[in-house]
Amino acid sequence: MKTDFDLKNIIRPTIKALKPYSSARDEFQGVTDAMVFLDANENPFENGVNRYPDPQQGALKSILSEIKGIPSNQILLGNGSDEVLDLIFRAFCEPNQDNVIILPPTYGMYEVLANLNAIAIKKVNLDADFQPKVEEILNSADTNSKVLFICSPNNPSGNSFTPEAIEGMVSNFKGIVVIDEAYIDFSNETSWISKLDQYPNLIVTQTLSKAYAMAGIRLGLCFASAEIIKVLNTIKPPYNINQLTQKKAMELLNIKDLTSNQIKDILKERSALILELQSINYILKIYPSDANFVLVKVDDATMRYNQLIEKGIVIRNRTTQPGCENTLRLTVGTSKENKILIDTLKSI
Ligand SMILES: *Cc1c(COP(=O)(O)O)cnc(C)c1O
Repeated sequence: MKTDFDLKNIIRPTIKALKPYSSARDEFQGVTDAMVFLDANENPFENGVNRYPDPQQGALKSILSEIKGIPSNQILLGNGSDEVLDLIFRAFCEPNQDNVIILPPTYGMYEVLANLNAIAIKKVNLDADFQPKVEEILNSADTNSKVLFICSPNNPSGNSFTPEAIEGMVSNFKGIVVIDEAYIDFSNETSWISKLDQYPNLIVTQTLSKAYAMAGIRLGLCFASAEIIKVLNTIKPPYNINQLTQKKAMELLNIKDLTSNQIKDILKERSALILELQSINYILKIYPSDANFVLVKVDDATMRYNQLIEKGIVIRNRTTQPGCENTLRLTVGTSKENKILIDTLKSI
């Protein structure tokens, strides 16, 4: 339980003073089918998308609330988790003054968004096992360190951080801690969304882009205290989740066992892939994975990457990332795709 955190001290003064844009659909919410809507300058001829979407995505949030066991007022949806991350920067980090802490090698967007928002970055590299150096991270913070980004399971290394390490950071960091759980559905670890009530400084982000097979509709999930969600809601673009996205997400989320069955398949494929990778002589190390990809160390990552491209297979070369020299990141595909990958790796 964390008691020394006051959200008021973390929000940017500009944001605290902000009066949000109030859309037509914000101002009138008593929607019934029988009503005549002449408030939003829409074209009245029905085609399925002629009306503005629900700015608070009430129907979609109630499905997600059920799935995740989190009340709707503790959920914010973004146009991908990248939009959620951007909102976090804009809510809590004062340009040219505040800083954030990231733990390389990690997801590239934290750094891009920090740069975009004129926020300084403190980097504390993960250790040789890709675990966070908690003491060093906490010591690197100063009074302007507003957000600490934790990615677990981590991209590109694939491992989860230990619950003890995460707990050490969430309990002791003075600002907001964001745990990016884009890959949590593939993981053996439990999500930190169950701990939101204990940690008022915690934001957990997830996405429908990976396990839920909806990268194309762009839907990012953000879970936090009702107070934090209220702040982010104030600054989000009014209609940030479009009608087609809301509809498609509800349609696929309502298919029972679809995602859990696909996750089971992907995890089975991951084990099979790892087994095959072990027999390839220039693969020097296979890093433990708690996600739907596997990081491997090879003799010459750039050469192997180019050889695969020539054979029509695209993977990710991570050799320039800290601690990732000569590594390649392989996404787990279908059994057919994985077989093509393995056959090709064996042939080059
Ligand atoms: C893929 C990924 C995301 C997903 O971003 P979306 O914008 O929701 O598609 C977020 N964080 C990490 C670490 C990822 O690898």
